[in-house]
Amino acid sequence: MDRQLLSNILTQMKKHLKAGKEIGDMKVGALLALGHQLEAIFYYLGHELGTILKVKQINDVTEIPNELQKIITEFNIGKVEISESTNEIVQLKLRDHSSIKDLINRGIRTEGSFCSFEAGLLAGIVEKISNVHCFAQEISCSLQTGNNYCEFMIVFQNE
Ligand SMILES: [Zn+2]
Repeated sequence: MDRQLLSNILTQMKKHLKAGKEIGDMKVGALLALGHQLEAIFYYLGHELGTILKVKQINDVTEIPNELQKIITEFNIGKVEISESTNEIVQLKLRDHSSIKDLINRGIRTEGSFCSFEAGLLAGIVEKISNVHCFAQEISCSLQTGNNYCEFMIVFQNE
């Protein structure tokens, strides 16, 4: 799924709706951006779950990594290491999460991103913490790289 493209198309759709213009072709574009259906569904599920977790809402972006770390630990989502945090993105490494737990170190390899459930979950959680709409993408998956972690990037949708 091309999250950035989807996000751009959704922003365009919003503008068109506001202006009373057609959005028909954009729906098709958004569908293509969604890509694999199962991946999109897993992302959706993770996102829904993330938004019902009880989190502390935070106004200062510099405190987001701490709160995120706390939630990930509290709900046993995995072992997290936050590698970058700005007012635009949060980037992190996640180990021992549910999507790969039973698959890693068994010679199973995937092409591309696999952990879209966790991507959605992280987006949902950060969205709840920051009260800013977010999207997240797995930028490297352990089942693809052979590393013992998957790497995610969460992007704040400021506009
Ligand atoms: Zn992964």
